[in-house]
Amino acid sequence: MIYIGCHLSVADGYAAMGQTMRDMGGNTFAWFTRNPRGGKSKDVPPDDIAALLRLAKEAGFGPLVAHGSYTMNLCSQNPDTRKNGFEMLTGDLARMALLPGQLYNFHPGAHTGQGADAGIAQIADALRAALPAAGETYVLLETMAGKGSEVGGSFEELKAVIDRFEPDEKLGVCLDTCHVWDAGYDIVNDLDGVLTRFDQIIGLGRLKAVHFNDSKNGRGSHKDRHEKLGLGQIGKDALRRVARHPALQGLPFILETPNDDAGYRREIEEVKSWFD
Ligand code: FE
Ligand code: FE
Ligand code: ZN
Repeated sequence: MIYIGCHLSVADGYAAMGQTMRDMGGNTFAWFTRNPRGGKSKDVPPDDIAALLRLAKEAGFGPLVAHGSYTMNLCSQNPDTRKNGFEMLTGDLARMALLPGQLYNFHPGAHTGQGADAGIAQIADALRAALPAAGETYVLLETMAGKGSEVGGSFEELKAVIDRFEPDEKLGVCLDTCHVWDAGYDIVNDLDGVLTRFDQIIGLGRLKAVHFNDSKNGRGSHKDRHEKLGLGQIGKDALRRVARHPALQGLPFILETPNDDAGYRREIEEVKSWFD
């Protein structure tokens, strides 16, 4: 058994996403809390949310994983961009309160030349101000490929953010297989070693979700170009070992592979077959 799904469009509402994913054979999904490139998000009708929660319970769905906007940057050098990012974060968390106990993942940010330490401090400051409103939502920092000035390309950088909070704070990590590979972690030849390092630095108890992708590029490329499962440099055998790793059982696995709906259906089917 695995919780597997993909990103869906929220355009037709929340219950529609649940129905679509059930039709696709999956049992979790992700959605962008607003347009991936930023902009206003629609208001959330409570009936629609209630219908989704009912369906998710009936169908035995795992945790759902909302994704913050790509344009949200909590550690830009530009104060207006930071302020805008903070407003997106608090707005997203207010909406997530309607979906209690689910996950909200976001890209920690890009320090745009200030240096990682300054970026880490600004991300932590924004989270400190926003987390009290998060309620039952677990907020997840995504592991990044380390492209440009991205913060979060190493477990140590994520830990540096998390370290500024109390141990019981609902703050965790979403591990993106393409990103950690591109950041240099060898999940192909040394998956145990990578997860042991994650455990030693961050703690596996903080790992709440997986973004399940192959990568177009080699280890350490810092490129962040996702590929369909088995068509990239990580490869199907290694991805199967990730999905079946004892330390990762029970987590929601979200496909962010370059696919249409039919492609996602096939990948969901295949990943499920690894557990037969
Ligand atoms: Fe992401
Ligand atoms: Fe991702
Ligand atoms: Zn990516």
